[in-house]
Amino acid sequence: MTYLALARKWRPRTFSELTGQTHVVRALSNALDQGRLHHAWLFTGTRGTGKTTLARILAKALNCEQGVSAQPCGECSACRQVDAGRFVDLIELDAASNTGIDNMRDVLDNAQYMPTVGRFKVYIIDEVHMLSKAAFNSMLKTLEEPPAHVKFILATTDPQKIPITVLSRCLQFNLKQLSPALIQQRMTQILTAENITADSAALQQLARAAQGSMRDALSLLDQAIAWNPAHIQTESVLEMLGTLDHDTLLRLIRALQDGDANAVLQQANDIIAQNADLGGVLQELARLLHQIALCQIAPDTLENDLPIHQILREMAASIPPDQVQLYYQICLLGKRDLPLAPDEAAGFSMTLLRMLAFLPAQEHTPPSAPVRPAVAHNTPATTIARNGAITAATQPATTVPAQQDTAQEATQDTAQDNRQNVAPDNTPNTTPTISLQQRNLPRHAADWQQLVEEMKPGAQARMLALECEWQSSEEDKLYLLLPHSHKHLAQPGYQSKLREALTKHFARPIQLILTLQESVSHSPQRIVEKDRAQRQADAETSVQQDRFIQEAIEHMGARMVSTRTNP
Ligand SMILES: [Zn+2]
Repeated sequence: MTYLALARKWRPRTFSELTGQTHVVRALSNALDQGRLHHAWLFTGTRGTGKTTLARILAKALNCEQGVSAQPCGECSACRQVDAGRFVDLIELDAASNTGIDNMRDVLDNAQYMPTVGRFKVYIIDEVHMLSKAAFNSMLKTLEEPPAHVKFILATTDPQKIPITVLSRCLQFNLKQLSPALIQQRMTQILTAENITADSAALQQLARAAQGSMRDALSLLDQAIAWNPAHIQTESVLEMLGTLDHDTLLRLIRALQDGDANAVLQQANDIIAQNADLGGVLQELARLLHQIALCQIAPDTLENDLPIHQILREMAASIPPDQVQLYYQICLLGKRDLPLAPDEAAGFSMTLLRMLAFLPAQEHTPPSAPVRPAVAHNTPATTIARNGAITAATQPATTVPAQQDTAQEATQDTAQDNRQNVAPDNTPNTTPTISLQQRNLPRHAADWQQLVEEMKPGAQARMLALECEWQSSEEDKLYLLLPHSHKHLAQPGYQSKLREALTKHFARPIQLILTLQESVSHSPQRIVEKDRAQRQADAETSVQQDRFIQEAIEHMGARMVSTRTNP
């Protein structure tokens, strides 16, 4: 007895047997039942999504002796011959092997003749994008003025390569990749009919490994049955697929999370010793990280059916989201670069070590807490952004307070916060300062900047003060320049607040004379900005010169971007 591959044995023969693609089936069924028949259809979609199967069912529906309908009888000779692949008026071509013009022209020349036995002459052209330009032109002639008895059913994995002239004459349907759940459901049906039992986890692994292709899924199922004809076990499927059970991967993630290099290497060695497909292991690891990330962002999306999901939820709660993203990114890059590594094992363990080496430049706060940007003083922190770019987080130690427009309603408390941002308070409140009464008004721009910090004005006065450039001072008079861009700060309320602050600070009435100026370049605000720009430039230079980072860029194909984390 010859063994018939499951994919062939269980190839759907009616629309209702087809797994998934309900959107396409519904549209086609309606058209068939209502007799609205187009003369050319194009099915697009990745391999194994059911394009040719659908094409054959459609060909059968068009030629069933019981009449055109979405439910071909399956009993008449036309139906049976289509199923057996012997129907003379169904011409199946594989463009991948018939790209020449001669063959296509021969075939299409025959289109003008009436069908031999059927209602329609149906041409199924698979991988139609592989046709030569001349062959397309030949087909186009028929498509432009199609004889009533000719139907084209085209299928392709790559619709981009089909000339627009052809595309525009076809009714196009995009077949979706099948979800692991749908694939698993179909496998279960088939196994039940075949009287074979299986572990649910084993089928889940097979369904995932098929990556959306039913044909691949059934081919893998064939292999699994060959390994274990009576019962499909998880262990043997994992061994067959060269993948690992989740426990191993979860232990690995835990070790990474703990920053325990020894444990990580130990796990890596165990995995390597199992002769697993290391690219597949990284892929599976990425899949788990994806689920953890999903769980952090949208907990409801994680189905609740597996014990592993409880563990994933725990991990989602304990690993900071940015770290999950980083692991994921490194995982993908590691998998991509695996063929370039000295050997697979080295590439694999290097990927894991990279996860330990790079930490997000952010404080590790619990996922629920707002993420605060890290403040790096001299050594710029380095992180890898989600897009794989290595980012120099060169946030200077001092930052400028919140934008003026928001600070208008700012309370005294906010002002307090802003002040701390601008300059860490070096002089504790308890430290007595020298008598300020004797002090003179500022003598140059830097004095003014320092004065603004020292006198700690309220929010409104502070906003005004930061934008003003010192112009000159007399005994009790302070002349300031305000740029036109901030003239709204010149309103009396703000001015009087600043005057009060000055008067309080110097313990004598101070007169404030404000002049509007096109622009200023030495206001405290501008000085801080210039300083920040310089620090950024310095930090970027030092990051670029860092050998470790250069290597990381080289090995990981990352690129430098300069970003600034704003509070
Ligand atoms: Zn029939």
